[in-house]
Order: sequence, then structure tokens, then C-alpha cells
Amino acid sequence: ETMVQFLKDEQLKRGYDPVVTPHIGNIKLYEKSGHIITYKDKMFPFMEDEEKETYILKPMNCPFHIEIYASQMRSYRDLPVRYAEFGTVHRYEQSGEVTGILRARGFTQDDAHLFVRPDQLLDEFIGVVDLMKTVLSKLGLTEFRARLGTKDPNDTKYVGHDDNWVAATKAIEEACQVMGLDYEVSPGDAAFYGPKLDLIIKDALGRDWQMGTVQVDYNLPERFDLEYIGEDSKPHRPVMIHRAPFGSLERMIGLLTEQYAGAFPLWLAPVQVAFLPIADR
Ligand code: ZN
Repeated sequence: ETMVQFLKDEQLKRGYDPVVTPHIGNIKLYEKSGHIITYKDKMFPFMEDEEKETYILKPMNCPFHIEIYASQMRSYRDLPVRYAEFGTVHRYEQSGEVTGILRARGFTQDDAHLFVRPDQLLDEFIGVVDLMKTVLSKLGLTEFRARLGTKDPNDTKYVGHDDNWVAATKAIEEACQVMGLDYEVSPGDAAFYGPKLDLIIKDALGRDWQMGTVQVDYNLPERFDLEYIGEDSKPHRPVMIHRAPFGSLERMIGLLTEQYAGAFPLWLAPVQVAFLPIADR
């Protein structure tokens, strides 16, 4: 709760709108997004109602935030729109892959989706990375490196035109340059809808953990036909940024517990001060 409140405050300062979305969604939303192709193996069994509509336990929050954006007409003056949710998602991981709270079948993402104009992309991306660095340093995690996950040209799981991929990858590279942030490139590590920048933390045991992630996405706005009305009174396509500074709240708590062996930073410690009566002897 302390971590959640810290991030909520930080997000309010940075112009995010808090939103809440359901745990169950119509499968059509996930067919439209393309998640169903990539995530089918990781979804819990589907549910069917009397009208033969199929529902799923949500594995991702993105389509819901897209629906909120699309629920009304947007003007170029309204953008950027930033929706943030502590969204619990459900993924049917193989039993061998489940490890305590570090990897569970239900976990809470400190998720957000930013809908921005192309000319706002660079600044918004930099703002997100700045937030992620603020979060990590507040948690005392100063040893991290950046990894740019790009598309593997031989894999068929990716959606969208090559032009979109090139533009999105270029935007991330440019933002890293502006910030002076070194990164390694990891082909095949992109999300299925766009490239991403991950912050990798080395923990107390020397293990690498992918924590914060930020993704640039030209493809889901296209699949959902998202628009805003530009200064020229014509419809334009926004770009989406997906981001999660903690990544998974559960995994972050697990990592911090091991990292500090229970002796948390003062602001996070469940017991901050204790007075012990001591006898003269
Ligand atoms: Zn997303």
C-alpha cells in the first residue's frame, strides 16, 4: 500500500488520470487487439454466457484503456491523455514456472497507457523513463541497465506495418540519445505490437530481473481505429505508450524483500522504530 500510494502521488503530479477497469472482458476486445494470438496459451479457460458470448479473465489492461479513450471524441488539445491503473491481470503460467510471488498466476501491474500526438512522443517517452528512474532510485535500486527489445524479423507473432515498427524503434533510440541512456539491443524481445525499453535490475543475489518497461505502439491505435481531431480539423491517429515502472507489484515486493533481507528502507519498513527497555546490567 505504501508503494502504491507513492506511485499514485507521483502519477497525479505528472498529469495521469487514475482509472479502474473490470477483471473480465469480452474476447472480441482481445481478438481485435491481437492478444488472443500471442496470449492464448497463457489465458485461463474461457467463459461462455447464455447468449454464447465468450469472456476471459483479463491477461492485459491495454484494450480496456483503449476503450476509455475511444469512448469520446478527442481533440489535439486534449492530448496527451494518460490513464493509470493498478490492474490485476491473470496469466495461466505453467506450474513449473510459478515461483512464490516473484512469478504468480495473478499479479498487479502498475500499468498506464498514454495516448499522444506524434509530435509529443519524444517528450512523453522521456517523461516516462524519468518516472521509472525516480521510482527505482526511491526504492534504492540504483544498479540497472537498459535493454531495447526489437522485432525478430523471422518471428510471425508481431502485428503491424514495418513503417510503424521503424518509427517506434527510432523514437525510443532518439529518446535514449537525448537522455544519454546507454542500452543494449535485444532482437526478438519486443512486445507483439511494438518495441520496448526495459530496465533490468541486478538483485542482491546477482540475478537479473526485468522490472520497469516502456513500449511505443503505433499498431493498437490502428487496430482500434483510434483518432483525435487535429488543428486542421481532420482526424489523426494517436501513438500509444504502454508503461509499468514496478512491472509487477508482487515481483517488486519479492525482489525488495530479498534485496534488503527484510531490513527495508525506512519509508517502506512495516516497523520503522522500536523502543526497547534495557536494564542497567
Ligand atoms: Zn498495455
